[in-house]
Amino acid sequence: MSADKHPPTTLAVEPLASELHQQLLASLGRGDGLAPEKTRRVFVNRHLRMDHIEVIGFDMDYTLALYNQPRLESLSAACTLDKMIARRGYPEALRQLPYDARRAIRGLVIDRERGNILKMDRYGYVGRAYHGTQPLSRTERRKLYREQLLRILPSHYAWIDTLFALPEAVLFSQIVDFFDAEPSFAALSAEQKSSRYSQLWADIRESIDEAHRDESIKRVIKADMASYISDDPDLPATLHRFRSAGKRLFLLTNSGLDYTQAVMSYLLDKRLPGYSSWRSYFDVIVVDAKKPTFFTEKAPLLAIDPDGQVRGELDGHETPSRGRLCQGGNVQALDRLLGLRGDRVLYIGDHIYGDMYRAKRASVWRTAMIIQELEEELLQQRLVEEQLQKLEALERTRHRIEAELRYEQLLGQRLRRLPKEDPQRQLVTEDAQLEQAQEEIRKRSEAMRSLIRQTDDDMDRLELQIEQAFNPYWGPLLKAAAENSRFGQQVEDFACVYTSRVSNFLQYAPFQHFRSPRDHLPHERVY
Ligand code: IMP
Ligand code: MG
Repeated sequence: MSADKHPPTTLAVEPLASELHQQLLASLGRGDGLAPEKTRRVFVNRHLRMDHIEVIGFDMDYTLALYNQPRLESLSAACTLDKMIARRGYPEALRQLPYDARRAIRGLVIDRERGNILKMDRYGYVGRAYHGTQPLSRTERRKLYREQLLRILPSHYAWIDTLFALPEAVLFSQIVDFFDAEPSFAALSAEQKSSRYSQLWADIRESIDEAHRDESIKRVIKADMASYISDDPDLPATLHRFRSAGKRLFLLTNSGLDYTQAVMSYLLDKRLPGYSSWRSYFDVIVVDAKKPTFFTEKAPLLAIDPDGQVRGELDGHETPSRGRLCQGGNVQALDRLLGLRGDRVLYIGDHIYGDMYRAKRASVWRTAMIIQELEEELLQQRLVEEQLQKLEALERTRHRIEAELRYEQLLGQRLRRLPKEDPQRQLVTEDAQLEQAQEEIRKRSEAMRSLIRQTDDDMDRLELQIEQAFNPYWGPLLKAAAENSRFGQQVEDFACVYTSRVSNFLQYAPFQHFRSPRDHLPHERVY
C-alpha cells in the first residue's frame, strides 16, 4: 500500500487528554494533579455526571451533621440502660459494665436467639462470630452458620445498619455475657436461654427507640451541641458552591422540626453572607420524612410554618419559595414539587437501607453515601500497607526456606539409599563420611525448621496487628478477608458514589464527571 493512501497518523504523537490535563495543572502550579487527599476523596461505583444533576437532596443526621461517635454512643447506651433498668426490670449492675465501642461496626448481624453477633461477607459467609463477647470457634461457626443456607429472617436476625445502632450491638454482647455468668441462667434449658436472649434484644431495641423518640437523647445533644456534633467549617461553602452552580437543594430528614432547627442552625447559621439563616441554603426542607416509607408509601406532603403549624397539603402546583418547610410526604410528591425528572436528583445520605436502598428501588434518584468511618479506615489502610508488604516478604521467605528444606530432605533420602559400593565407578563410600554428611543435613534441616517456626510467629503477629489496626474484633468495615463485607457489598450495590463527608465535594467542580473504574471479570484481567 502506498504511503499517500494512508497518510501517517498523528494520533500517536498527540498528547493524550490526560497529559494535556497534567500540563494545564502544571502551568497553574497545581503539581501532578487535582486528586484530593485519599481520605477526603469521592469514590465512584457508577458514573455520575454532576452537570446532569439539577437538584441535590441531603439527609441530616450522619450526613450534614456528623456526630462525635464516642460521645453519642455513650449517651445512647446510658439512656437505653436507664430505660431498661427503670421500666423493664434489668439490674442496676449493668451500669458497671465497661462500654467497649470497638465491639460493634456497621453491617454486623445479630442472631437474636443464640446471643451471637456475626460479620458476613458478600456471600453470607460468616467469617467472624461472637457469643456475647466470646469468639466462636471455627467448628461452632461452621455448625451454626455453614451447614444450612443462612436465611436472614427478621424474626431471628437483626442488622446493625446505621451508626445510631452501634450501641445496641455493644449492649447486647455485654449483657449476653452478664446473663451467661449468672448461675441461675446457666441452669436454664437451651430453649429458655434462647427466649431470654431474644427478649434481651427486643428490650434493647425498644428502649433505644424510646430514647430517640421521647427526646432523652436529643435533649442532651441540644444542650451541648459542640460536644456531640463535629463542626465542619467547609460545609456552608460546599452548599454555597452547589447553589452558585445553579443547583437547587433540599433537606430530607426523619428528625422532627425542633431538632432539625437546632442542629441545622448550629451548623449553618451566621456562616456566610447572603444566607440569612440555615433555611435559605435549601429550596425545600422536609422534616419527619419517615424514610424508608417515604419512598414506598403515599403519605401527604404537608406545608408547615416555622412553629410547626400545618398549613395544608402541597399538591405540586405551587412554586416552592426558598426555605419552604414541609413535613412527611413521599418521593413522588417531592419530585412533583421540585418539578423535575428523578434522574436529575442526587440524594446524599448515610443509611444503607433508609436512604440508599429504598431511594434506588423506589425512584431513579442517583445516590451518594456518606461513610463517616471512611477517613479512619483509609488511614489505617495506609498504615497497614507497609505491614502487608512485610507480610508478603515474610511469605516469600517462608516459601524459600521450605523449598530449601525439601531439598535437604531429598538429599538425606538419597544418601540413605546410597549403595556402599558403586559397581560402575568402583567408589567406596566410607561409613564415617556418610554419617558426617547425614549429620550436617540434620543440623541444617533443624535450623531451617526453627526458622520456619519463627517466620510463622512473625507472620501471625503481623496479621494480628493488621486486623487490630482496623478493629481488634471485627477487622475492616468494608472487607471480610479477601471479599467485600456484606456492608461493603451493599455500598457497592446501592451508592453511586461514596465519601466520608459532604464537604469533600468542595474539592471537585460542581460539573465534575465522576467516573467509575472499569469493572473487570477475572478472565479479562491481564497479569
Ligand atoms: P436522618 O438521618 O436525618 O433521616 O434522621 C435520623 C433520625 O432518626 C434522628 O432523629 C434519630 O434520632 C432518629 N433515630 C435513629 N435511630 C432511631 C431509632 O432506633 N428509633 C427512633 N428514631 C431513631
Ligand atoms: Mg441519616
